[in-house]
Amino acid sequence: MMFKNKYDVIVIGGGHAGTESAAAAARMGADTLLLTHRLDTIGEMSCNPAIGGLAKGQLVREVDALDGIMGRAIDNSGIQFRMLNRRKGPAVWGPRAQADRALYKQAVQALLAEQKNLHIVASSAENLTFDSSGRVAGVTTEKGKTIKAGAVVITTGTFLRGVIHLGTKQIPAGRVGEGPVVGLAETIERLGFRLGRLKTGTPPRIDGRTIDYSNLQEQPGDKPPTPFSFLTNNIKVPQISCYITGTTVNSHNLIRDNLGKSPLYSGQIEGKGPRYCPSIEDKVVRFVERNRHQIFLEPEGLDDHTVYPNGISTSLPEDVQMELLKTIPGLERAIMTQPGYAIEYDFVDPRELSPSLQSQKVQGLFLAGQINGTTGYEEAAAQGLMAGVNAALVAGSSSIGETQSFVLDRAESYIGVLIDDLVTLGTEEPYRMFTSRAEYRLALRADNADQRLTAKGIKIGLVNKNRERAYKNKII
Ligand code: FAD
Repeated sequence: MMFKNKYDVIVIGGGHAGTESAAAAARMGADTLLLTHRLDTIGEMSCNPAIGGLAKGQLVREVDALDGIMGRAIDNSGIQFRMLNRRKGPAVWGPRAQADRALYKQAVQALLAEQKNLHIVASSAENLTFDSSGRVAGVTTEKGKTIKAGAVVITTGTFLRGVIHLGTKQIPAGRVGEGPVVGLAETIERLGFRLGRLKTGTPPRIDGRTIDYSNLQEQPGDKPPTPFSFLTNNIKVPQISCYITGTTVNSHNLIRDNLGKSPLYSGQIEGKGPRYCPSIEDKVVRFVERNRHQIFLEPEGLDDHTVYPNGISTSLPEDVQMELLKTIPGLERAIMTQPGYAIEYDFVDPRELSPSLQSQKVQGLFLAGQINGTTGYEEAAAQGLMAGVNAALVAGSSSIGETQSFVLDRAESYIGVLIDDLVTLGTEEPYRMFTSRAEYRLALRADNADQRLTAKGIKIGLVNKNRERAYKNKII
């Protein structure tokens, strides 16, 4: 594991915020170090193997318009592309793609590997260092090594004092199979940041070979698939179908009978969950009148039999989850390969940040992604990119030198809406993007993101020559 003693920008965490952040800082010309726990989990999809959706798809297109990596990564790994909301006007269409989970990670890692100025090291960041004025000066790793930096971006996702809940079991973890981050959480607390607690959850995973698809509704993708990236001409990855099933009255009775065993209802979980992506326990309690909730059976990969049952996120005990599957058409004999769980973690009140995502308390320190109270890969990527650009500007290392921060307006982008909402209003529940949050949504279409943003990216040196040429050819 080799690193220098000093970088312009250090990014902590190789999730969706961290990878965009590191790549953006490096594109700006900053000598950038990405420090992350494990190289093999860079670009990991912690939950749903899908990118995009309503409003989220717009975010991905905007990240792509600024030469980010998410759009190209999903184009190289998507196994089912669908344009959502086609019955409505093009302003609110939402591109979405189901990913081959392994191919997605590979695609992210390959794009990072070819990025100039970017160094990646597997290590845990334990602490931050400061200069005499209180400005951030670097990072200390778990091995006690200190690395200096002009700016630091923290993108630690659900890892800060993360705790997994599965029935009454509580396991300290950042996500399944990975430990929580405590040292950095304590540093952030010591600095006096306002912290809160949120929770999110994931459904059980199923062995697809044990699902009976014969009576289920097939959902094919679009033909031809529409790529995410403005640089992709066509999708070369083989395309497959998803299937639709749903819960039954028996499922709901079982859930009601076992509510006391759900950490969500026993008082074990204090953090607030995502209102618009509720657990199946929540749905049964909140929508008493409904006797069916739809479930999309989404394959996790071309060479992977795992199926993700989208719609039944749960933290009920494992044995109850197995019983639950038996009440769902097509899943009567399904084998559960991994139980669902909920995770609680610390987040920082994003009102601590300025619109550039720099901390107002500590100069040179940026936060992006789930640590700011958001949920979703796309929201994380969008913040990551903006924090990376601004970290490079603050470090004075971009090719255009230290300048004002790079901030997008609500009228020109969903990225602007996202960051403005976070830093002005804060959030009390995991924040996700919706078209309804954007006052100017009729103008913020997924298909015009390049016309809205690419020239701005070119101006600050964020966009590679290849994209600059493609954009200019399209515009003239
Ligand atoms: P992450 O993707 O979590 O990445 C954080 C990275 O930082 C990891 O690589 C980690 O190893 C690294 N790291 C952390 N601390 C350190 C450190 N000290 N030093 C070095 N490296 C470090 N989103 C939805 O939209 N809908 C859902 O239903 C949903 N459900 C979820 C369920 C679960 C169980 C989990 C865990 C997440 C869920 N999410 C969901 C959220 C989604 O996964 C995140 O929004 C997204 O991954 C956040 O991206 P991020 O980059 O902020 O963090």
